[in-house]
Amino acid sequence: MKREVRMEDISDGKLYGPEDMVRAGCGGCEGCSACCRGMGSSVILDPLDLYRLNSLGKVGMDELFSRYLELQVEDGVILPHLKMGGEEEACGFLDGNGRCLVHPFRPGLCRLFPLGRFYENGSFRYFLQVNECRKSSRSKVKVKRFIDTPELEKNEKYISDWHYFLLEVQEFINSGAGNGKAKEINVQLLKLFFLTPYGEDRDFYGQFYERLSEGRRLIQE
Ligand code: SF4
Ligand code: SF4
Repeated sequence: MKREVRMEDISDGKLYGPEDMVRAGCGGCEGCSACCRGMGSSVILDPLDLYRLNSLGKVGMDELFSRYLELQVEDGVILPHLKMGGEEEACGFLDGNGRCLVHPFRPGLCRLFPLGRFYENGSFRYFLQVNECRKSSRSKVKVKRFIDTPELEKNEKYISDWHYFLLEVQEFINSGAGNGKAKEINVQLLKLFFLTPYGEDRDFYGQFYERLSEGRRLIQE
């Protein structure tokens, strides 16, 4: 999702790579679950998030979408996000002790927080959102350790490719060629990337790139 904000207002003015140290360490969030509540529609999921949550084996796709997720239009594209429900507007995966029930399988944005991604030139770097985390005394930690994501190089390429593909979809939907096809394209893309389960016995990234080719074909027709 694009955010119309000035980097100097929300960050420490630096951009980070995976080997850099960043002051984001919050002691395993001990005693705090603030960013699992009241986040509105901001925890947007990508296809890898669905693969992860589905591979838990406890929650089927239907239950995921009916109980834990919601769909919303983001810049013309329909995408799922974590649903914040109840009086506390809490994520459905938060337990009574304020801990994440799906921690090893949690979505990419949950792994990242309070870091964000700054995209430019077909790629991205990380930045620290200085006003977001409630813990005032954060320690320095290596970015790649903090975001706790296996095969990080592959993951970063995938994150960029997904991001720039969504921009292509937005452009298509808002162009003359896509005029009147927004609903149809959105339904097809939702099925392709989110609703059709990924094979758990196969590497996610291989399956994603097969679907990406199909997705590109859909917006070029
Ligand atoms: S998935 Fe886990 S870490 Fe992410 S918002 Fe929900 S409870 Fe918090
Ligand atoms: S606000 Fe900071 S300390 Fe609290 S749960 Fe979020 S990342 Fe952890």
